[in-house]
Amino acid sequence: MTHSSSKGLLPKLVLLMLTLLSFFSLANITPVEKHGSLAIENGQLVNQNHQAVSLAGPSLFWSNNGWSGEEFYSKEVVTNISKQWQASIIRVAMGADFKGSYLTFPEDNLLKVTQVIEAAIDNNIYVIIDWHSHHAERDVEQAVHFFQLMAKKYGHLPHIIYEIYNEPLKNTDWHSVIKPYAIEVIKAIRAIDKDNIILVGTQSWSQDVDISAKNPIKNVKNIAYSLHFYAGTHREELRQKAQQALDAGLALFVSEWGTVTANGDGAVDYLETEKWLAFIRKNKLSHCSWALSRKNEGAAIFTAEASITGPWPDEQLTTNGRYLKNIISNWGY
Ligand code: MG
Repeated sequence: MTHSSSKGLLPKLVLLMLTLLSFFSLANITPVEKHGSLAIENGQLVNQNHQAVSLAGPSLFWSNNGWSGEEFYSKEVVTNISKQWQASIIRVAMGADFKGSYLTFPEDNLLKVTQVIEAAIDNNIYVIIDWHSHHAERDVEQAVHFFQLMAKKYGHLPHIIYEIYNEPLKNTDWHSVIKPYAIEVIKAIRAIDKDNIILVGTQSWSQDVDISAKNPIKNVKNIAYSLHFYAGTHREELRQKAQQALDAGLALFVSEWGTVTANGDGAVDYLETEKWLAFIRKNKLSHCSWALSRKNEGAAIFTAEASITGPWPDEQLTTNGRYLKNIISNWGY
């Protein structure tokens, strides 16, 4: 027995329509709808289906009161970075311990940080909550308190990534200072949130990932190590260190990088940035570029006249800003 062609046509049309519908809805799927809860498996960031994932977005500037970056801590900015730039992630750089920071003005800074985190959740993009400090080991109790607060509030959501120490200095020893700090803060987070990704800063402004690879944190899942670079200063030598760490099985996450020199200024180094981007693509790393600010320096994404909410026409972006927008909006996720 065979069905007549007229009987078979209707189900075929319905099937075709459903296929088209799912195609168009997939094309507009948000990053968190697509990837869900993230994990680290065999040194690689993976999504809910155990597939490698590579996220791209910008970092906010220090949140400190009275510094120039705080004006971009808003829902509108996050929505425009998500919709206009197609970013899959944004990094909150919560100034921890300088003038105007969380430790001196906790309520102000918490409010700014919370606005961005909740806007990222609303837009279904990932968000890094970064303890933006060069001396985090001096304030372990406060860091523990802050991350427990964040874990209680947001740890059940797939969007959240914790970054517990932005950039330890060159003389801050991994083995005796950074690693013990990390173990304590990780323990506090894991008491509340068993699974979200935790990024651990590494010695020398988050460059000495090779040192961490020789003495990694054991028996905790979903840990990655921060690799930061500024293309105008850090080159092949740093990529080789990163490669050593990857070869040793360490998961790396480029939670901050710049196209300019390490002091945040100077011109865009296109040649070296392209080498870094090839390295990042090849190793399926995720990255956040510095920084959403109107400060008069090379790393600023916006011109002095730019809107503080967006969307931003290209003439409101610096040379660096136009280049980063192009990288992020074409990255895919
Ligand atoms: Mg969780």
